[in-house]
Amino acid sequence: MNLTNLRKDFPILNEKVNNKPLVYLDNAATTQKPLCVIEAMSNYYLHLNSNVHRGVHTLSQQATTEFEHVRKSVQTFLNSKEQEEIIFTRGTTESINLVASSFSEAFIKEGDEIIVSELEHHSNIVPWQIIAQRKKAILRVIPFNDNGELDLNVYKTLLNEKTKIVSVAHVSNALGTVNPIKEIITLAHNKNIPVLIDGAQGVPHYKIDVQDLDCDFYCFSGHKLYAPMGVGIVYGKRKFLEAMPPYHGGGEMIKEVRFSGTTFNEIPYKFEAGTPSVADVLGLKAAIDYVNSIGFETIQKHEDELMQYTTKKLLEVGDITIYGNAKQKAGSLSFNLNGVHPFDVGTLLDQLGIAIRTGHHCAQPVMQHYDIVGTARVSFAIYTTKEEIDYFIESLKRVKQILL
Ligand code: PMP
Repeated sequence: MNLTNLRKDFPILNEKVNNKPLVYLDNAATTQKPLCVIEAMSNYYLHLNSNVHRGVHTLSQQATTEFEHVRKSVQTFLNSKEQEEIIFTRGTTESINLVASSFSEAFIKEGDEIIVSELEHHSNIVPWQIIAQRKKAILRVIPFNDNGELDLNVYKTLLNEKTKIVSVAHVSNALGTVNPIKEIITLAHNKNIPVLIDGAQGVPHYKIDVQDLDCDFYCFSGHKLYAPMGVGIVYGKRKFLEAMPPYHGGGEMIKEVRFSGTTFNEIPYKFEAGTPSVADVLGLKAAIDYVNSIGFETIQKHEDELMQYTTKKLLEVGDITIYGNAKQKAGSLSFNLNGVHPFDVGTLLDQLGIAIRTGHHCAQPVMQHYDIVGTARVSFAIYTTKEEIDYFIESLKRVKQILL
């Protein structure tokens, strides 16, 4: 992979921040967008803008055709059996809320149990807490050890005939842990329990094959995969989607509306009420094409090298605690300079042009596990270079001199 050429695809990487060249290490929060994605969106507004699915006029039909091409493209990207199993949402958060809300209406009753894990993003905790409260169901939690790895022995004991769904992250945004999702899915399926995978941090780093994983739902956000904000995906197995009631009511999700009663559309439209964010959806296709043109083998190799290199260099700085030492990690590396608040580290690095994330990363239970207020987190993308990591490490040494 020629990184110099690849970086030219991302105009924002030439920006200066605080008079220093931008070093963007906050990719787990959102990735930068290549020009092809920006052009796909502007092309829509320049040449194609019209509402989808409803018009007989040419522009609307063209927009609809392009929009539905993206569904096909996501189907191929995730290797789902059918394109009707692909639902457009605004992002992972909406995707998980959709499943939690609709699945629970069909399948969860008082006394039932839902399993999540201790290392989830709030987006994969709070929707289930709301459902548990609404349905008088019980939320069970798979704990993780100090390395940031889920305790599968406890998980096995949590699975029982009352368990109605398991919902876990593919990759932790706070610790970088890659969870053994295939094993988690198999163990649940042995008891006929469906599994949702929060793929927000999985999709940017790994080739996903939902048929091979055999997960029942897989959710992700476009914006962490070089696509625009405002578009996300629910993959769901047909048998579940058909049995689940609609999430939102409105246009497009109906067959016929009468005051005596409304009938609902087929999947996936049953779950797609209202005007979608068409330009963002088209941007998602451009991002998928872009990522495919690089290839996941190349992406993974590059990011694994960065993870190992950064971990080694960070520890050499001294007075550093790394949170999460799982055997398999991807994307994110969380640490603290001992005795220093992560905000101070982040603020000083920002003065040097380096964008990292500090805080609880919307995973407060992870912070509670380690009894800390937060961490500093660096996260990688395909355009991250070793030179940027070297600059980050040198800058961190300066920060350490100032603060310790
Ligand atoms: N799950 C995980 C693991 C995440 O990292 C994030 C985003 N930080 C989300 C869910 C929520 O994604 P979004 O804000 O795009 O809906």
